[in-house]
Amino acid sequence: MTVRTRFAPSPTGFLHIGGARTALFSWAYAKKNGGQFILRIEDTDLERSTPEAVQAILDGMQWLGLDYDEGPFYQMQRMETYKKMLQTMLDAGTAYYCYSSKEELEALRESQMQQGLKPRYDGKWRPESGKTLPAIPVDISPVVRFRNPQTGVVAWDDLVKGRIEIANAELDDLIIARADGTPTYNFCVVVDDFEMGITQVIRGDDHVNNTPRQINMLKALGATVPQYAHLSMILGGDGQKLSKRHGAVSVMQYHEDGYLREAVLNYLSRLGWSHGDAEVFNMQQFCEWFDLDHITPSAAQFNTEKLNWLNAHYIKEANIDVLALDIATRLTKLNVEVSLQPKLQDVLALYRERTNNLNQLASEVAYFYALPKANLADVEKHLTPEILPVIRTLSEKLGIIDWTAEAIHAEINAVVAENQLKFPKVAMPLRVMLTGNTQSPSIDQVMALLGQKLTLARLQKHLI
Ligand code: GLU
Repeated sequence: MTVRTRFAPSPTGFLHIGGARTALFSWAYAKKNGGQFILRIEDTDLERSTPEAVQAILDGMQWLGLDYDEGPFYQMQRMETYKKMLQTMLDAGTAYYCYSSKEELEALRESQMQQGLKPRYDGKWRPESGKTLPAIPVDISPVVRFRNPQTGVVAWDDLVKGRIEIANAELDDLIIARADGTPTYNFCVVVDDFEMGITQVIRGDDHVNNTPRQINMLKALGATVPQYAHLSMILGGDGQKLSKRHGAVSVMQYHEDGYLREAVLNYLSRLGWSHGDAEVFNMQQFCEWFDLDHITPSAAQFNTEKLNWLNAHYIKEANIDVLALDIATRLTKLNVEVSLQPKLQDVLALYRERTNNLNQLASEVAYFYALPKANLADVEKHLTPEILPVIRTLSEKLGIIDWTAEAIHAEINAVVAENQLKFPKVAMPLRVMLTGNTQSPSIDQVMALLGQKLTLARLQKHLI
């Protein structure tokens, strides 16, 4: 049987880290098994669903590169299918009309609570052989209920949590269509999983309580019940529920915050899944390795340091042209226009080893294209009246050499020696003048990249 998995987000917010991991695992499982991955937007909660959230989910999936073979399907566009299926169940007697009024149900609930009983439907309209149903009230539009089995258990071997068994006696006759005829959440999921031929349902374990009901309905429809894998929650690094501070933000926020998609994907892959002690791998490798047997049933903890570490790795490994495009965009956001000289690729080659974040990388290389005003304290500390003449001499010598890091280094060494100084005594003022800062890679390499003209012009500003 061909593997068919799906990601079925409700568009009530961003695609956050938890949702992205669910999508990634479903996607990878389909890829690994040569199957299909389906995107289904569960937008039936009209009050909470928004078009912006749909777009945010699509954008997030696209950024991560989680391509789907079918969809996106929108549940709101499938109402006819659900209604047909409701009729099929009504005809088969696996669902029935219930005319109990709201008031009646409320009274029932209260009396059950008073007796210390679990509130549940009393089965008044449930057809049974030999039972005479009450007369149909004229003023009530009925809901449709699923005729849940009353005995036995519903059980499944969860691919993450192991065997789960629920007594049918615990389950109510679920409302599957409201009085206005609209189908309810669990019913839509069941019809879709059935019609779309889903073979593995991989989803968050906040849905584990829905599963026994869904299995019973699938069986009533004569469907092959899919396998279920319920993924545990993702907790913050402090063991608390994931909050905005920890990563319960849109995956796109990671892009904005300076993360490469490769790092985010690699990080998410390891969030609750492992392959021996492999930590760094690309998505091709992941799709070859991924299985549902190595998902941990315990909650995974979010770890920003590890994500940063992976980001540093992927920044080092990135194709330099792709990296340059990304950084150029970030520089534009900092109001810095990249010019042809120095070549951004060359600048990044020098800088990318030193960072774990793209925004940081962009702001560290910005001075090549727009010199920031140096901090006054740095100017006072390093550009002393004693050192400026030394820099002037150096600047004159630099004007007539071949512009290579080695030649520049040799000239700096020469003035250092002539004036019996320590190297930093010259290097620091050079940094302040050329970068506006006191930290940079080796100053001769920076100067080589800046180019002779720009270097001399920047020095000149402090020498007149
Ligand atoms: N729409 C549900 C959610 O966003 C997922 C339902 C499912 O995967 O079965 O939580």
